Amino acid sequence: MFNFRFGRRLAVNEESYDFPPFRPPSEADSLLLRVTRGCPWNQCAFCPMYKHIKFEKRPVQAIKQDINTAKAYTGGNVETVFIADSDSLVIKTEETCQILGHLHDTFPSLTRVTSYARALTLRRKSPDSLKKIRSAGLTRLHIGLETGSARLLDRIKKGAGTSTMIQGCTKAKEAGFEVSLYVLAGIGGESSWKEHAEETAKVLNQINPDFIRIRTLVPQPGTPVFQWWNEGSFQMPAPETILKEQRKLIEGLSVTSKYLSDHVSNYAGINGNLPEDKAKMLSLIDTTLDKLSKDEDLRADLENMRYLRRL
Ligand code: SF4
Repeated sequence: MFNFRFGRRLAVNEESYDFPPFRPPSEADSLLLRVTRGCPWNQCAFCPMYKHIKFEKRPVQAIKQDINTAKAYTGGNVETVFIADSDSLVIKTEETCQILGHLHDTFPSLTRVTSYARALTLRRKSPDSLKKIRSAGLTRLHIGLETGSARLLDRIKKGAGTSTMIQGCTKAKEAGFEVSLYVLAGIGGESSWKEHAEETAKVLNQINPDFIRIRTLVPQPGTPVFQWWNEGSFQMPAPETILKEQRKLIEGLSVTSKYLSDHVSNYAGINGNLPEDKAKMLSLIDTTLDKLSKDEDLRADLENMRYLRRL
């Protein structure tokens, strides 16, 4: 399958195709289609992604032209598409449906079309609008929960509390979307890891998403979290703490979800289907904790991951 990843950027005239800068790792082989630019919220304290981009809705005609350009490059052989940037369902439902219609007409072999979405945007959409978008062919939504702690959501300026997270995600599930939620390991710092794990498990249990995807906090320059860390008002959790936090989170889950550590920032490959793989996942954490207690090089390697700069 042809893919339009970052690495292919130079292969296409910039005038002819608007490349989005970010997509989930699970969409590495997908055609990337930019419906909006940037993030309409852009305030989360840990997030550097769109800080230098002014939020814009792209004209539907320009998006359709990008779909046509992609067809010219791929010959129509596209199976999966990721819609960018961070919250494209903020555009009118009719426009989303028009874009999805053109996408499916152009690429009849599509099996999956996904997008990032904010829980607040989903909560604001009517159930009928969400069902229309689902029927038009958007199949999966990637949503940043980060934490289920109301206090931490407020501190990191997520712009959505726990009830918004639960309502928005539940509406999306009821409309028929696959729901993929991101949890940010370490965002409670050294002091609040238990609160982060316990409260996150409670929210996930209420939503019962299809996917739980773990990212580990890597403070990025230019973000408030990086500043808090430098000033000392936020203490990055030790590698053991991150693993204990994961353990407590998994222990508290009573979901039927895929749990995936599918990101370069994570400290261990804790993956599985819940509930059946829970014991195996906990055992892997225990083994990693044991290794960590005996291996200073492993600790140094994991601690160095705090300094990753390109995620
Ligand atoms: S985490 Fe998502 S919602 Fe928050 S600022 Fe970044 S892109 Fe926007």
